[in-house]
Amino acid sequence: MDILDYSAVDLSKAVKEKEISATEVVRAYSLRIKEVDKDINAYISLSEDVFKDAEVIDKKISAGESVGDMAGVPVAVKDNIMTRNLRSTCGSKILENFVPPYDATVVEKLKRNDALIIGKTNMDEFAVGGSNENSYFGFVRNPVDKERVPGGSSGGSAAAVTAKEALVALGSDTGGSIRQPASFCGIVGIKPTYGMVSRFGVASMANTLDQVGTFGRDVRDTFYTLRSISGFDERDLTSFDANISIDFTKSLEESYEESMEWIRGKKIAIPEEYFIEGLNPQINSLIMQVVDMYEEMGAIVESVNFPHLEYALPAYYAIAPSELSSNLARFDGIRYGNRVEEYEDIDEMFEKTRDDGFGEEVKRRIILGTMCTQGGFNKNFYGKALKARTLIVEDMTKIFDDYDLIISPTTPTTAFKIGERKADPMSMYLADVFTVPLNLAGNCGISIPCGEVDGLPLGFQLMAERFEDEKLYYAGMAYEGVMRNVL
Ligand code: GLN
Repeated sequence: MDILDYSAVDLSKAVKEKEISATEVVRAYSLRIKEVDKDINAYISLSEDVFKDAEVIDKKISAGESVGDMAGVPVAVKDNIMTRNLRSTCGSKILENFVPPYDATVVEKLKRNDALIIGKTNMDEFAVGGSNENSYFGFVRNPVDKERVPGGSSGGSAAAVTAKEALVALGSDTGGSIRQPASFCGIVGIKPTYGMVSRFGVASMANTLDQVGTFGRDVRDTFYTLRSISGFDERDLTSFDANISIDFTKSLEESYEESMEWIRGKKIAIPEEYFIEGLNPQINSLIMQVVDMYEEMGAIVESVNFPHLEYALPAYYAIAPSELSSNLARFDGIRYGNRVEEYEDIDEMFEKTRDDGFGEEVKRRIILGTMCTQGGFNKNFYGKALKARTLIVEDMTKIFDDYDLIISPTTPTTAFKIGERKADPMSMYLADVFTVPLNLAGNCGISIPCGEVDGLPLGFQLMAERFEDEKLYYAGMAYEGVMRNVL
């Protein structure tokens, strides 16, 4: 079998058992990147150390030393996640030359597990956007149809996995930035429960919503990678205590059959409000096919109401920019960021540095966020949005009191054409309508491919209560089991 076709679970096993060397893996993936990335533009920077890292792993294995679970698995890392001695730009001009002196906790963990960090992926600047068109380093093409966007903001990570330029990848999801590109590119993407994966060393977009998660070609690889990065971290004040953190070890051993067994009798909710008027009937029917499949497996699917869903998008677009405007204040040319060379005084230095360093969409959000939190507006915008957020949390809690999972489409459309929505931010914001509620409530969700509409991939979304990420694993594996005709 071609090295590029191994799953992460099988590849790490093959590397451990000396069937394939880590060096051969890096060689195969580097070649692939050379071949296709000129076109796709999934990477901003490639690691120069990765061949050396592979050699270290190979040596350990031949010396009979033990290696980690991710041994020899090539991972692409979104460029807002800090990597020691490897440029981390956040997709922005203001950090064009920034080389961090430390690793984010998730990167540390990957390295400890002997993963191969192959490079840093392209993204919408500071994770702001849903198409990857807001990157200082140019747009990314969707490998499925190169005239279309891969989604965003983790567009580079999703495209890299789809184009086999990486086996798995890390992304971040603040309002859908893992699930939406996973849906557009035809792969699996998970946003874990808030607090389950450390944010230490991850540049904040909106810190009460941001969560690091993983991409893979299937459910098992996605969780396999998630297992190696999750867990309590004392350096992140929003990280959950070790006692609550989940150990996926047991569930990862469960096979398709066991997952199909698990799903029997589980209750799945379909919120009526997700099936908005004007939703493409083909998308609707694909999701209904998934629902039928779950019913055939013995799950109980019922329609429910999510009464405040309509407030999710406006609440998100007040809260996220408010937090963003505050988080980006540190990029002032003194504490962080490239400083412009010519200025009269310090005020002009700030102004010119930020004007030169930030792109259009980031500026738009900073203005929006500053307005929402300012004196007289605070109560009416930011304050109201927080109240709406509470209503959304309550709605979801109520649904999860009676149901194990919620199902919905991940996105209201398939991948759109490059340039098509760039001039119309509102139409871009609407792409997040199905994904933002989860971030507002801090729950977990996954997007799993469920077919094509006019030749373009589409995902369905499963959501679960906080710290019940394992349910997404079982339900996802059960679905894939049926698709692969396991029984
Ligand atoms: N598309 C959303 C936005 O532009 C989500 C971004 C994200 O999840 N990082 O805000």
